[in-house]
Amino acid sequence: MSVRYMYPEGFEVRGREIFMDANATTPVHPELRNVMEHVYQSHYGNPSSPHYAGIRAKRILAEARAEGATLLSCAPESLVFMSGATEGINTAILSVLSQYTAGKGKGKTLLYGATEHKAVPEALKHWNEVLAVGARVEPVAVDELGLIHLDDLARKLPDALMICTMGANNETGVFQDMGALEEKIRGLRPDIPWMVDCVQMLGKRPVALGRTTIDYAPFSAHKLYGPKGVGALYVRPGARYVPLQIGGGQEAGARGGTENVAGIAALGRIFHWLNHPELGPFHSPNTLYEMRNALLTSLQQAFPKLVLNQPLEVSLPTTLNFSVAGYSSAELIAIFDAAGIRVSAGSACSTGKSRSFVLDAMNLPTWQSEGAIRMSFGPTFTQEELLEVCERLRFIGEQLSHAPLHRDCAFYLPDPFTSNSAWIACPESALVLILELQQKHEEQLKREFPVTQWTHRTWGGSEEDFAGFRITPTAEGFVLRYLKTNRELHVHADGIHQPANTAPVRALTSLEEGDYQFVDVREDVERAMEPPRVAQDKTLSIVRSGWADFLLTRSQDEVKTPVFFCRSGRRARDVATWARVLGWHNAVACDASASEVNHWLARKAKV
Ligand code: PLP
Repeated sequence: MSVRYMYPEGFEVRGREIFMDANATTPVHPELRNVMEHVYQSHYGNPSSPHYAGIRAKRILAEARAEGATLLSCAPESLVFMSGATEGINTAILSVLSQYTAGKGKGKTLLYGATEHKAVPEALKHWNEVLAVGARVEPVAVDELGLIHLDDLARKLPDALMICTMGANNETGVFQDMGALEEKIRGLRPDIPWMVDCVQMLGKRPVALGRTTIDYAPFSAHKLYGPKGVGALYVRPGARYVPLQIGGGQEAGARGGTENVAGIAALGRIFHWLNHPELGPFHSPNTLYEMRNALLTSLQQAFPKLVLNQPLEVSLPTTLNFSVAGYSSAELIAIFDAAGIRVSAGSACSTGKSRSFVLDAMNLPTWQSEGAIRMSFGPTFTQEELLEVCERLRFIGEQLSHAPLHRDCAFYLPDPFTSNSAWIACPESALVLILELQQKHEEQLKREFPVTQWTHRTWGGSEEDFAGFRITPTAEGFVLRYLKTNRELHVHADGIHQPANTAPVRALTSLEEGDYQFVDVREDVERAMEPPRVAQDKTLSIVRSGWADFLLTRSQDEVKTPVFFCRSGRRARDVATWARVLGWHNAVACDASASEVNHWLARKAKV
């Protein structure tokens, strides 16, 4: 049950966190926790020991292997348990490349799909170098849908020592047409070693590997409610195999090291669920598709400018990858975070400017690649969670419709252009006004509001309206009025001022202590980054801290613009974004290094 808190100021702080980053990992399912607990309590023997405690543990491995073999339509001996997919990928690649040491692969290629998980090209490069194979590591192009380009594949296959593809992509959920790939690969190279990364496919697409000519296929338990650090590698009978690690002869000599019995038991139970869907907690694909549709509809209502970065017809039902015009991925993550929904940037890095190599490979526009968000859920996602997410999305949409994040004007001084002019930018309408500016203001403006998209236009000197602004010349300079909010800025040769009778604009240039209220969130934000101590339904998703208190205890009428500052400008922006989504539409962020803040702190210290 999730609890909603209503606050008199008109915003709500929601309870439970909803984790929608299942492609990164999943929480351990309660039943699997029990399975592991049982192993820890009564099957703790070493499977290599000859006594009964060892035999009990060994039986667990045999049962898990048998379930896996049933699922993959293969012999139990074809499965080697290991620490996860990355180890499986490395083992498969080592197995193939170890026959080409000392330059035997010179002039040849090691192929991988351009959207492959980074573990694959990195492992190819690593072993190519360590074993001095001398081959070239080369991507095979994908088309705009994210599917392997069969013509490019056909061109590159003749020279290849190995080909690595993936079942389904972790960022977009796009799944490959395995039949078409197999036909192409085997038609041209019947014997080439072929690895298929099946991590994201498990539980969502058929994986009857034993009926295919795939040679190697890694799996990982933590993507499907198992613990981290356990997985398996499928190896086709007859495929070359070289252990990555050697030791006490475990896994029939295929992988040295005492087995993670509890983890393997959990993986075995996952295989069991997939063999007997009626006994397990996973929804049918149809239900998952319906859930995805409902989510997408709510997302589109909350963000009318949403663009999908994946073709739905060839994507897993559990992944949505999208961008929203005008928003960076960091902003979107902060918006979702404010509503207690955890999503990830489509790309590996969430620092705003990073791009997704997967979306780049699909030839999507830069802004989509830079602003991508991945929302992914697992096959146990409940109807209750779905309704809650849709409701929170409705709330987000409502808040943003009152005050889209880029609603008022922001200053920006872009370095590559002239250093003697500042820009007042309104990204929503792509307006940029160039102001002649004195050097001393540059520093202040530079700290403010990165703007990613703009056009520019120089003001002609007479009263003019454009893109939602009215510019009126005055004796000292001009007045800039944002017509939507009627906020005014007076721009003079000596600086930029806000008249006392208008609501303040997002700028720190003419800070008067009376107009703004600084909220020091340096300690609080660090603390808020830690998980809440009592993460039960009835706790706030925002840890109670100085800034949460600030929001909860004050009325918006009585407070001047809250200016949040923090050690990291990005964190401060996140806090301000949260505050905005929660109804504090005029919240502003600035870096703790901003000189105004330092003056303020110094003054405060003196008092
Ligand atoms: N391959 C894909 C497609 C993945 O999504 C992941 C996990 O992020 C991996 C490989 C690596 O798996 P593991 O975490 O088990 O090493």
